[in-house]
Amino acid sequence: MAVSQQGKSAALEVSLAKIPEEGLAFQAEVSAAYLRLPEVAEVEFPVPVLVRGLLTKVGEQAYFHGVTSGTLAVLCSRCLEVVQSPFSMEMRVIYFPPSAHVQIDGEDGVDADEELDLYSHDGMTLDLRPPVHDIVALALPIQPLCRPDCLGLCQVCGENRNAVACACDAAGDLRFASLQQLRFPKTS
Ligand SMILES: [Zn+2]
Ligand SMILES: [Zn+2]
Repeated sequence: MAVSQQGKSAALEVSLAKIPEEGLAFQAEVSAAYLRLPEVAEVEFPVPVLVRGLLTKVGEQAYFHGVTSGTLAVLCSRCLEVVQSPFSMEMRVIYFPPSAHVQIDGEDGVDADEELDLYSHDGMTLDLRPPVHDIVALALPIQPLCRPDCLGLCQVCGENRNAVACACDAAGDLRFASLQQLRFPKTS
């Protein structure tokens, strides 16, 4: 039942005229490349990003309430194992007509609990790509961990300490041994 949108350049664009009064169920799968996500080293999207939800229209404003989900493959920042990190982000988006003057800044009365994201449509078409791009960018981990207590790589022998209990820490001999081999030039 997965809908492949490969090759369609306008997978996340919806004509306003096609949104009926009762709303329009929307679903599309897009690639990370299509979303033009920022290039982040060591982050891959092994499966397409799925966007689904309901589009509605009131007057000149359009709304999208839905979910963007997918999977990130990232390297654990400590042990360098690949971590499959599924994400599912709720989206509530308002599209204003191009002429609208949106009063959102300048006042600190904006309710932070209202997690509505504001975008504009061009009068004919709304584009879900900008809000989907923004929400997926939020899902990118800054310092991914395979698990919160990942032990990382041993600094001495390089073993993954989650998998191997190496003896390096207990003794610490190797580190001292290599320190003792350092030769400092004699200055006097
Ligand atoms: Zn790890
Ligand atoms: Zn070790």
